[in-house]
Amino acid sequence: MKQTTRLVNFDSFYQDEGVDQLKTINPPVYRGSTVLFKSFEDLTLANTGKYNGITYGTDRLPTQRALEEAVRELEGGALTRTFPSGISAIINTFLAFTSSGDHVLVCDNAYGPTARFCNEVLTKYNIQITFIPSASGREIETCFQDNTKLIFLESPGSNTFEIQDIPAITSLAKKRNIITVLDNTWATPLYLDPFALGVDVSIQSATKYLSGHSDLLMGTVTVNKKYAEPLQHFYRVTETYTPEEDCYTALRGMRTLPLRLRQHERSALEIARWLESLPSIDQVIHPALSSHPQHHLWKRDFTGSSGLFAFVFKQEYTQKKLAEFVNSLQLFGIGYSWGGFKSLITAGKHNRTQESEYTGRTVVRLNIGLEEPEDLMKDLESGFELLK
Ligand SMILES: *Cc1c(COP(=O)(O)O)cnc(C)c1O
Repeated sequence: MKQTTRLVNFDSFYQDEGVDQLKTINPPVYRGSTVLFKSFEDLTLANTGKYNGITYGTDRLPTQRALEEAVRELEGGALTRTFPSGISAIINTFLAFTSSGDHVLVCDNAYGPTARFCNEVLTKYNIQITFIPSASGREIETCFQDNTKLIFLESPGSNTFEIQDIPAITSLAKKRNIITVLDNTWATPLYLDPFALGVDVSIQSATKYLSGHSDLLMGTVTVNKKYAEPLQHFYRVTETYTPEEDCYTALRGMRTLPLRLRQHERSALEIARWLESLPSIDQVIHPALSSHPQHHLWKRDFTGSSGLFAFVFKQEYTQKKLAEFVNSLQLFGIGYSWGGFKSLITAGKHNRTQESEYTGRTVVRLNIGLEEPEDLMKDLESGFELLK
């Protein structure tokens, strides 16, 4: 056999060496478009849709399947599918469960790109969007129309952390056969159980806590039994591919999720309470603080809090002053995303479709990482000195 041929058939050699039988604790990472059939008969079965094995890269390779199963377990749902980012998971959820002519309700504090997709893309397909107040509860009923198909919630919502009355909303939705979706990235399934509260579709930006190390983008969609078949079918038809290396890394991150989350929670609360005691700070927006407007809902529905929260100063500083403060920080990286081991800061003027107490004010958002809270507080304290 020629060397060229041998190189091309390298796989048959390592199979002969018995490498196939190797069993590691973690699943192997498969890279691949083509999946080889054992025989022409199998190919024929695949052509008719009756083949039981994996047919192609987009048919969810084993590492992706392992991650999906792990997330499904964690969520306690009926079916999980993965997507190449959190926003991709959100977009595909809208596409899977809405049709032209439908009406959709979206909470006003949803992640910015979620709202943008609704406004700029969903509307192109004749889907009507209504933004509902960030802290909505049973009064949401007044927004229902005959064609209301889906309610999209994010609780606590991005940047301002308002909490919705999820069980009140889901019980109303059930009566009208409206599908409810929750972006549960902040709490993860460990601190909020969406299915127990009547939610139909639970979304995670696995980019955040599930992976936990700021080294990948990933989203997951988990559904209850009622929506398992439609999601499975949609995923098969749209053939989304989630990179296998990222599935592997996300799965590895998930092993330490409870430990990391517990530490994020403890550190963030310590820092939030300290910030609340400072005279220069008007309000610390953290659902686990009794000063939070929907603290009673957090206490009722959640079993913990995570490491992301925000605060507003008593006075509005100039952009220059604000820049001095943010740039001076040694331990807080300036950047988007969160849920990783490193502390991060973002700040900006609050802007939403509906007026709120934060309208026009600068909201500073902190992602508390795994550093010692004492060091983080020292860092912030030095920064605050510059604002005096
Ligand atoms: C970051 C984020 C997303 C999007 O996740 P990506 O993986 O960055 O696309 C969705 N929802 C919330 C609440 C987020 O914070």
